Amino acid sequence: MSKHVTEPALAVDVRELLQQPGAHKHVVLRAVLPDLATPVASVPPERPVTVDAELESVVEGLLVTGKVRATVRLRCVRCLREFDHELEVDVRELFTGSGSRSASLHPREDEDEGYAVLADDRLPLDTMVRDALVLAFPSFPLCRPDCAGLCPQCGADRNTSDCGHDGSGATDPRWAALAGLRQALEEEHVARPEA
Ligand SMILES: [Zn+2]
Ligand SMILES: [Zn+2]
Repeated sequence: MSKHVTEPALAVDVRELLQQPGAHKHVVLRAVLPDLATPVASVPPERPVTVDAELESVVEGLLVTGKVRATVRLRCVRCLREFDHELEVDVRELFTGSGSRSASLHPREDEDEGYAVLADDRLPLDTMVRDALVLAFPSFPLCRPDCAGLCPQCGADRNTSDCGHDGSGATDPRWAALAGLRQALEEEHVARPEA
């Protein structure tokens, strides 16, 4: 049996459930989990996550069915602005009974770490909650579907300012020369309207 180095933040005493196959228990747990982050999405360290679940004692162990909720901070991939997003993920996982109960009947070499009742009859939900949230993090967040993004020429946020660039890319020096000539001609025309 592996040692659990870190104490689970989301753990429920399930001793009475394990002793009564068919028994149910509803739990709502709330805790802060570390390291919930991808390059464009994260749950900031001060924000707790919530798991609202029904626990059911079955022959193989405990069936956990419910929802995981968190306020995720996302970064728009177009304009890089950060914004909050309420995430709710459905979960349904089978946790194997604690070692003494099931190991002899169903030895499993591939038993997933974090999906088993602890030796002291507590059910640790940290790994399930973490996996559910990270898998549900959007990989291409947008602050709004039509986000205009940043100007590729000057970096201005086109949602809030009009820098005047048309977004056609780096300015070709030949076109710049023509544009300068046209502007000079227009100014000359304004200066001498009677010509
Ligand atoms: Zn955006
Ligand atoms: Zn610009």
